[in-house]
Amino acid sequence: MEDQEKKRHFIKSIIQEDINTGKHETIVTRFPPEPNGFLHIGHAKSICLNFGMAEEFQGQCNLRFDDTNPAKEEQKYVESIEEDVKWLGFEWGETAFHASDYFDTLYDFAVDLIKQGKAFVCSLSGDEIRQQRGTLTEPGRKSPHRQRTVAENLDLFTRMKNGEFNDGEHVLRAKIDMASPNINMRDPVLYRIKRMDHPRTGDKWCIYPMYDFTHCLSDALEGITHSLCTLEFQDHRALYDWIIEQVDAPCHPRQIEFARMNLNYTVMSKRKIQKLVQENYIESWDDPRLPTIAGLRRRGYTPGAIRKFCSTIGVSKKESRIDIGLLESCLREDLNDRAPRVMGVINPLKVVIENWPEHQTEELDAWNHPQKPEMGKRKILFSGTIFIEKEDFMENAPKKFFRLAPGREVRLRYAYFITCNQVIKDETTGEVIELRCSYDPATRGGDAPDGRKVKGTLHWVSAEHCIPAEVHLYDRLFLSENPEGAADKDFTGNINPESLVKLDHAKLEKGLAAAETSKVFQFERLGYFCLDSKHTSGEKPVFNRTVTLRDTWAKVKKKN
Ligand code: ATP
Ligand code: MG
Repeated sequence: MEDQEKKRHFIKSIIQEDINTGKHETIVTRFPPEPNGFLHIGHAKSICLNFGMAEEFQGQCNLRFDDTNPAKEEQKYVESIEEDVKWLGFEWGETAFHASDYFDTLYDFAVDLIKQGKAFVCSLSGDEIRQQRGTLTEPGRKSPHRQRTVAENLDLFTRMKNGEFNDGEHVLRAKIDMASPNINMRDPVLYRIKRMDHPRTGDKWCIYPMYDFTHCLSDALEGITHSLCTLEFQDHRALYDWIIEQVDAPCHPRQIEFARMNLNYTVMSKRKIQKLVQENYIESWDDPRLPTIAGLRRRGYTPGAIRKFCSTIGVSKKESRIDIGLLESCLREDLNDRAPRVMGVINPLKVVIENWPEHQTEELDAWNHPQKPEMGKRKILFSGTIFIEKEDFMENAPKKFFRLAPGREVRLRYAYFITCNQVIKDETTGEVIELRCSYDPATRGGDAPDGRKVKGTLHWVSAEHCIPAEVHLYDRLFLSENPEGAADKDFTGNINPESLVKLDHAKLEKGLAAAETSKVFQFERLGYFCLDSKHTSGEKPVFNRTVTLRDTWAKVKKKN
């Protein structure tokens, strides 16, 4: 695939080595999202890495829902995750896996730990357990219940499972080492009581396993060879290994950590995105300003652009914040290649061509992609009343303004040269509302036979042959590069009030009436746009600006 520049990185080297030495014949990776929100661009990095390694080494990558917390997880998130992974272009075999599929086996492993004297039921409260855990410089204190006998523990754990206790009354803890320098090893909790139905197991369980207990064993049960996760799990690796070594697990996967992806001008954590949705700062999880996969898709991002981006940033152990401009430039590269060109005017100004023969309409040929003749041509219609962009006219224009001004001549793309003869203004506001122009019939197609040159070429649409539309312009969702940076104030205080600008008088080339939501067009001179998937049936179609043609932010930054 085009986006799979076979970049080398440390994880690939490890896998390659494991294959060379015969440690593994086939590799198995997994992508383990918790279904408590939509996936975001950070997840895309993990998806591209896990599925990408499996693809490259002809192995397998499992999609596994880490569904151990029924309080936060929902079916709608499961569905969105599956849709997003597929859309990115990856497959996970017959069915997706669920940590909840292993609840019985995990329970047996827990019982086994108890029998070996390596786990015990603790009746301290959550707060007490936290208080006794110690700090980085101080060892923790042993739970008074640590000495319970195996029989006692088995009895209590069975009764926990049978629903004889309330939430929080007891937990099951591993018995490891309260003095360990690694806090994760200080008798971590393995199971807690949560008297709550689970979307998949119904009311069968009222105890649920903790992430650290579930994750490593799920990996082992699926025969995962390389368990790739983000750096915050580095300190959990000792526990990951410990649990697998204590029980009769079918294999011992190797956990390897890599740095998370962080992007500037946005927030990525599901908790924060949830807050933005709940408090109505944005519309929904798929708001086109969000870095969620669903939001990016609705905005017009392509899977190719996202994969290219993930491959460009690479994989390392070093935390960094990536410039969102890089994501946009991967997108432009992808769209420049494939997006058909059309004309649309987003801030229309009426132009009447006075010497145009009355009621005449003319058909002109326009390239769908000037650099790619194989993409063909289309017919566009020209008539005596057209719209041009307000910005393309200036009444008192400086010399270097190469667009339309009184007495000046410009080229209309694929059509004729026009000269502005008269400016009509609103009597009360003074706003320019119409231009009277004349055209030169000899310039059809855009060249003058007498060789005279014009510097500016404007896009336009014919008033009689266009469709009205609403256009949504998006910008960075946050004003500062690191919206989470200001510790003293909530990140929502940093939202860019102009992150969404709606223009509802746009006029677009008629052919766009048949646009499909997944298809991105280049509106010549303006940027890339696509039909919004949520506003397809209203009075006017809504087009989202996917990205501008050039990185205007880079320029702004340079200036400052
Ligand atoms: P968040 O912190 O955004 O809420 P999470 O880590 O809680 O995300 P999970 O559903 O647990 O979300 O993540 C699934 C997988 O995606 C994990 O293996 C996690 O390491 C990985 N992942 C999550 N965020 C990123 C990121 N920003 N960059 C790379 N990988 C990520
Ligand atoms: Mg998580």
